[in-house]
Amino acid sequence: MTTLAEAIAADQLGDRVWLYSNYHCNLACSYCLTESGPKVERRELDPATMLDIAHEAKGMGFTRIGITGGEPFLVPELPEMLLELSAVLPVLVLTNGTLFQRSLLERMAPLGAADVTLQISLDHPDPVTNDVMRGPANFRKVVEAVPALLGLGIPVRIATTLEDGDAEDLPRLCMLHRELGVGDDDHVVRPILRRGRAESGDMGVRARYLDLPPELTLTADGAFWSPFAPTVRQGVLDTDLLLSRTTRPLQRPVDAMLTVLGGRPAGADSTLNIR
Ligand code: SF4
Repeated sequence: MTTLAEAIAADQLGDRVWLYSNYHCNLACSYCLTESGPKVERRELDPATMLDIAHEAKGMGFTRIGITGGEPFLVPELPEMLLELSAVLPVLVLTNGTLFQRSLLERMAPLGAADVTLQISLDHPDPVTNDVMRGPANFRKVVEAVPALLGLGIPVRIATTLEDGDAEDLPRLCMLHRELGVGDDDHVVRPILRRGRAESGDMGVRARYLDLPPELTLTADGAFWSPFAPTVRQGVLDTDLLLSRTTRPLQRPVDAMLTVLGGRPAGADSTLNIR
């Protein structure tokens, strides 16, 4: 069987371990893969466990950590935890960018000197169209948060999730993210994936495991093939891309992942641009 180091070196497996910090969210976007919202089951990974996993991942040869949810900044101790995590490995946090009021920004300030990057969702250059999908005042909060975070020295990426046909608005969205201080290399564009609430709403593109870039992803429920795998539909966790209910030691889900990778057809590469 291929080793972890060989799989990462050959770009067969991502060098980042993703952690689902929680599943609840202050928003309830129409295409949300995890059906997140204020009242859903939280499925939290506790901060001490996340820190342990980061140490273990580093020891095994992973080189980056990703935090996603739900909205990670609903975890009360997240800014302080990011400081600790980033002392182990560089961290990327996916966030909706709507919670950065003054008090949270003050707690974020030390992260300007840490290896932490935020990836904030912004889908459309028009506030009304953007907020139809993502909720009231989403646009305003994001365009205020991005310069504030950059001003603290925290790198920011913008992630745009596109419905069919939205691409014609991309040039205006790109002008906007540049005005906010985010360059083209830090703008991620991807399609809606037909899972979770998107599937219930008949939106998005269907993806099989061969279409998804393999990146080890841990949640309170187990280890999964990709951060796009531990989705929820009608309140039930999807397990079609579950690798293992056991997440620790990390070698267990890594072995499961390497076994699946070994069974992939020769030359199989992910076909969807959904990183
Ligand atoms: S897409 Fe993101 S911001 Fe929107 S409800 Fe889901 S987790 Fe929250």
